[in-house]
Amino acid sequence: LSSGLEAAWTKLKGEEVLTKENIAEPMRDIRRALLEADVSLPVVRRFVQTVSDQAVGMGVIRGVKPDQQLVKIVHDELVKLMGGEVSELQFSKSGPTVILLAGLQGVGKTTVCAKLACYLKKQGKSCMLIAGDVYRPAAIDQLVILGEQVSVPVYTAGTDVKPADIAKQGLKEAKKNNIDVVIMDTAGRLQIDKGMMDELKDVKKVLNPTEVLLVVDAMTGQEAAALVTTFNVEIGITGAILTKLDGDSRGGAALSVKEVSGKPIKLVGRGERMEDLEPFYPNRMAGRILGMGDVLSFVEKAQEVMRQEDAEDLQKKIMSAKFDFNDFLKQTRAVAKMGSMTRVLGMIPGMGKVSPAQIREAEKSLIIMEAMIEAMTPEEREKPELLAESPERRKRIAKDSGKTEQQVSQLVAQIFQMRVKMKNLMGVMEGGSIPALSD
Ligand code: GDP
Ligand code: MG
Repeated sequence: LSSGLEAAWTKLKGEEVLTKENIAEPMRDIRRALLEADVSLPVVRRFVQTVSDQAVGMGVIRGVKPDQQLVKIVHDELVKLMGGEVSELQFSKSGPTVILLAGLQGVGKTTVCAKLACYLKKQGKSCMLIAGDVYRPAAIDQLVILGEQVSVPVYTAGTDVKPADIAKQGLKEAKKNNIDVVIMDTAGRLQIDKGMMDELKDVKKVLNPTEVLLVVDAMTGQEAAALVTTFNVEIGITGAILTKLDGDSRGGAALSVKEVSGKPIKLVGRGERMEDLEPFYPNRMAGRILGMGDVLSFVEKAQEVMRQEDAEDLQKKIMSAKFDFNDFLKQTRAVAKMGSMTRVLGMIPGMGKVSPAQIREAEKSLIIMEAMIEAMTPEEREKPELLAESPERRKRIAKDSGKTEQQVSQLVAQIFQMRVKMKNLMGVMEGGSIPALSD
């Protein structure tokens, strides 16, 4: 998908403004790229229409190149298409939270049971699994083995008991043991059939689940969206889990599910290990689709998003080690505009995989930094040296922003570190010095 889109941007190089005429060809590329990624035709049509309308109506933004402008519009619309925000799992206020998993055969339901338990355990929740696939003894054994792997109890009742009865007994057992989250595995079929739907309806009636999640295989492309719709109409679901995103799926499923079915993708599976389950971030996915994979392209694009003058100004300041708190704010806000801290952190080499907890931490610290910078005088923002020199000033900022003096000192130290880092990033090898804070 991203290589197809890359072609679209290239065609706008050298243009001054986005017009109906000059976007026609890039829009055809985008349309083709989406269709090749197996996004359904009605979704592609609406998407292309929305993006075109916005692009043409947009006019000139001084200093921003049209191809970057189009990247931005496509990015934002992709995020919207995928539901915008992260869709969190819901938990029951009283008694155990019950999660019922449904889906066709081989999509990864049984694996998801254990992965989900592993994921929720990390959040401090106790879990129990219920083996509801009564058609194959091997399915029960599989769940028991996976349960052992993640150290979570598995309730089994053999293959002679009806799934709805197993659900009832399992839930009783969970309540007795004060379990926080009960996850029920069910049997899939090769295709949708009435027997499966009736069974799921019976189980759902007994469990009264907080979440009914349809597990779908990303490889099925636009078919995934149709499946989510059908299951939602038949049994009523709360969302989907997209598995096997690590395979060579073309992304169509991730793009179509929300738009077609109205139900969000809540989690994605990216591998066979128990740790390979994470929340679905529309923002991150859009970034990945657009192929913004490394620090350099991030820096380039962030600068494109900012006004050109600002960028040039910034560059000069970085070169002369004058990068100040105003730039810091501008930069961090541009970063936020670029699409989520999550993506940015993912781009920093050596950070490796970033956990959702780390991301929340980073976003929190951004808010804290903003509060402190807002408490600075214009002079202080321009001359971080003033703050390095004066503990009184730091004390005042701490008080006005409601943060600790230590937090202010950290921020001041950070801006000097950033000067050095940014200089290095820009290819200027001699670094500025980091002054010690006087106290
Ligand atoms: P079920 O029939 O829906 O219960 O599917 P299973 O949980 O038994 O999974 C079927 C196969 O898909 C197994 O070999 C799993 O290891 C594999 N699988 C499940 N999720 C993923 C995933 O996210 N990535 C990859 N690569 N394989 C997966
Ligand atoms: Mg199974």
